[in-house]
Amino acid sequence: MSAAKQQDTSATPAPGKLDGRVDFPPVYRSALAKKFRRFLNPDSVISDEETIRPYECDGLSMYCEMPQLVLLPETVEQVQQIMRICHADEVPVVARGAGTGLSAGAMPHAGGVVLSLAKFDRILGIDPGARSARLQPGVRNLAITEAAAKHGLYYGPDPSSQIACTIGGNVAENSGGVHCLKYGLTVHNLLSVEVVTAEGDRVTIGSDGYDSCGMDLLALMTGSEGLLGIVTEVQVKLLPKPEVAQVVMAGFDSVQKAGDAVAGIIGQGIIPGGLEMMDGFAIQAAEDFARAGYPTDAAALLLCEVDGTREEVQDHIRQAEELFRTMGATSVRTSGTEEERALLWKGRKSAFPAVGRISPDYYCMDGTIPRSQLAHVLTEMDRMSAHYGLRVANVFHAGDGNLHPLILFDANVPGEFERTEAFGGDILNLCVDVGGSITGEHGVGMEKIRQMPNQFGNLEVSQFHAIKQAFDTRGILNPGKGVPTLRQCQEYRAIGPLRQPSAAPDTEASHG
Ligand SMILES: Cc1cc2nc3c(=O)[nH]c(=O)nc-3n(C[C@H](O)[C@H](O)[C@H](O)COP(=O)(O)OP(=O)(O)OC[C@H]3O[C@@H](n4cnc5c(N)ncnc54)[C@H](O)[C@@H]3O)c2cc1C
Repeated sequence: MSAAKQQDTSATPAPGKLDGRVDFPPVYRSALAKKFRRFLNPDSVISDEETIRPYECDGLSMYCEMPQLVLLPETVEQVQQIMRICHADEVPVVARGAGTGLSAGAMPHAGGVVLSLAKFDRILGIDPGARSARLQPGVRNLAITEAAAKHGLYYGPDPSSQIACTIGGNVAENSGGVHCLKYGLTVHNLLSVEVVTAEGDRVTIGSDGYDSCGMDLLALMTGSEGLLGIVTEVQVKLLPKPEVAQVVMAGFDSVQKAGDAVAGIIGQGIIPGGLEMMDGFAIQAAEDFARAGYPTDAAALLLCEVDGTREEVQDHIRQAEELFRTMGATSVRTSGTEEERALLWKGRKSAFPAVGRISPDYYCMDGTIPRSQLAHVLTEMDRMSAHYGLRVANVFHAGDGNLHPLILFDANVPGEFERTEAFGGDILNLCVDVGGSITGEHGVGMEKIRQMPNQFGNLEVSQFHAIKQAFDTRGILNPGKGVPTLRQCQEYRAIGPLRQPSAAPDTEASHG
């Protein structure tokens, strides 16, 4: 049981100022649009329903809402002006990057505006000597590595969505990826961020150096899901491209053995660049899609990438091959060329869309558990899958215990979406019960707000609200997301984390 769970949840501070804002004055769309059109291009203030529609959700498309307006500023000064107006008029603001989020974090507020950072897509500078890059928040994750490549550098955190997701969204979600086991999450790869506050002030948090004095506000801002400020510039650390990288692929006849092999590799002192696992269902789907040469008779597959100098890689690859064989691998293969390595990763990176081909809809969950609990949790998930009558495919960052179960369902079958949500809720509760967390990298957003009281006691929830209040006195930034109100905490604990959705589900599921 986590320390957070052991707290006294009965000590409920009275709901009030520090309890998350839910009420806002009515918005008069045309009057509001007029204020923004004074300093934004007319086509940067979107008010017609048809053009707003694509902004109604993020990657978790079963949660949708239409905003009053969508705003597309081009300068930081314009962002400041927007925030000043919204602060004065108490209008909710939801920041948006590429909208690939998977927890409905960028879902609009019905009474507010969406502030899109799509036009902030410039790389402001790369300093090879300092191994850093200055970026506008709308720069795509992969574009950073592409631009840094000519200096022999790259940007470490690599979400599978990196072709589309933005660095501003990565900061807001503290995003991770395959290489985060060795190179850290977004928070470990930042030097500074520039933020426009809820009141429209422009502040820089962090510095060019590896540490700054005072409290670590950079860490606080990272993963704050658009609740504390609008990120308008990001300075990231760049890493030197390793001399060599190779992948060992190992198939196992049981999930238990593969889970034990994950612990074995780390225990051996090898920190792989990436250590990913797929279960039998995901192996089959990925192989049908990518033809990567995966062993389709295996119950579990590990992809273990080792990078570094040639000697180091040779040594670690030999150790990993040996260890996998000793731990019962039924097949072991190592990439011999860059093309082969890319193909092995192609299967893994396309596993989500591959699963999408075999089911009308799927729901991508995100939770973290201690590595030692992998086999137990996967076995429990099998049991739950039978209980709910829903198939589940597992593709995940095994090295850091970050699970991504994909629950397959058909939203057109009455009751199936509700069962999917209940199944997902049970998985997250299981993660908490074994000492893990309800989110690994996708954030809480709207999706996991019901699980928050399961992970945190009322005192911690009140502290979250106090932090929010310190940054956003009027509670206009992404209201209703990330942290439940204390009233909601009581309600969710009373009725349990499972629920019936208030609205009919969209027929498209998350893109995972
Ligand atoms: C196929 C697929 C694979 C994925 N794989 C991964 C993965 O491997 N690892 C991972 O971590 N995630 C993954 N994700 C989730 C998602 O891509 C990340 O959360 C990503 O960081 C979101 O970036 P975005 O630009 O799309 O942000 P959005 O979805 O637009 O926004 C996400 C949140 O950030 C806030 N926000 C956005 N920009 C700003 C800003 N400038 N200032 C303040 N707040 C802001 C929004 O309000 C929202 O709360 C995946 C998603 C998909 C669809």
